[in-house]
Amino acid sequence: MSELTCAEFVELVTAYLERSLPAEVEARFVEHLTACEGCERYLDQFRDTIRRLGTLPPESLSAPVREQLLAAFLEWPGDAGDATKRDPGQGL
Ligand SMILES: [Zn+2]
Repeated sequence: MSELTCAEFVELVTAYLERSLPAEVEARFVEHLTACEGCERYLDQFRDTIRRLGTLPPESLSAPVREQLLAAFLEWPGDAGDATKRDPGQGL
């Protein structure tokens, strides 16, 4: 099973605090949190900042990035066989 990287963790912090993570992703998030001291501290600081500001930092994460990440988590490949090449620039 794939583990969250620290970079992915950081990207998901806002969504986690907004409780907008799908349960499966949140489970991975919490798993990383318990295993990684650096990220635990990061989350603490993040919470502290929110407490002081009374809200989430506005520029913390752009929605498209978050959505891409969530999509990636939810589509975690069971079999990475012949991947059809998709160009992200093409859109729909
Ligand atoms: Zn970490």
